[in-house]
Amino acid sequence: MNLIFMGPPGAGKGTQAKLFAKTYGIPQISTGDILRQAVKEGTPLGKKAQIYLEKGELVPDEIMIGIIKDRLQEVDCQKGWLMDGFPRTIWQAVALDEILRQRGLHLDAVINIYLQEEELIRRVSGRRVCRNCGETFHVIFNPPLQEGVCDKCGGPLYQREDDKEETVRKRLEVYRARTKPLIEYYWEKSALISIDGGARTIEDVFKSIRDAIFSKIKKEG
Ligand code: AMP
Repeated sequence: MNLIFMGPPGAGKGTQAKLFAKTYGIPQISTGDILRQAVKEGTPLGKKAQIYLEKGELVPDEIMIGIIKDRLQEVDCQKGWLMDGFPRTIWQAVALDEILRQRGLHLDAVINIYLQEEELIRRVSGRRVCRNCGETFHVIFNPPLQEGVCDKCGGPLYQREDDKEETVRKRLEVYRARTKPLIEYYWEKSALISIDGGARTIEDVFKSIRDAIFSKIKKEG
């Protein structure tokens, strides 16, 4: 199964991608996580990416395409993969099509999770992430058992610099201008599945995604 999960910041894309990948045993390729890890380790990639991440801007396409090309070559991707946060521009999508064509791979579905803009801001600004294991929580919708402490590993929770309201607004602007056109791109390729990410539990949204993906795969044989 080869999948892409898309959506504006705060739609629940990362949460759903993680859950889906874990449930079906395929790797979740989160370009945001790859970049944040590189920043944390201070690698050459991390040094380049840091400026963009802090401003809520997109890292240049050539860098991102290189990351994806390498990542898809790793052995765990042979049984399928789920991309979370890539592609984010038309140019990245075109490059991905070419990579898949060269490797004889087929894209099964693109999940687009949508949500009202004010709700997105509310969600992102309440998000907290574990510094140790990367697990995500929300102060209202998905609080940890103990405030500021990760349920999974006991690590400290923090707010991502780019989750602060001003940066979120900037990221939404970037999303509208650069990433939203991908909805039409994948719709024209008959790959798109749109899912309402609002006013429902994580489990409800997950079930909708799962049912839509499997019914699409079944229909296409
Ligand atoms: P995310 O965790 O998916 O919200 O990504 C966090 C940040 O990483 C974004 O705001 C961008 O600065 C950068 N980023 C992640 N994926 C991409 C991508 N495919 N293209 C460009 N920048 C990206």
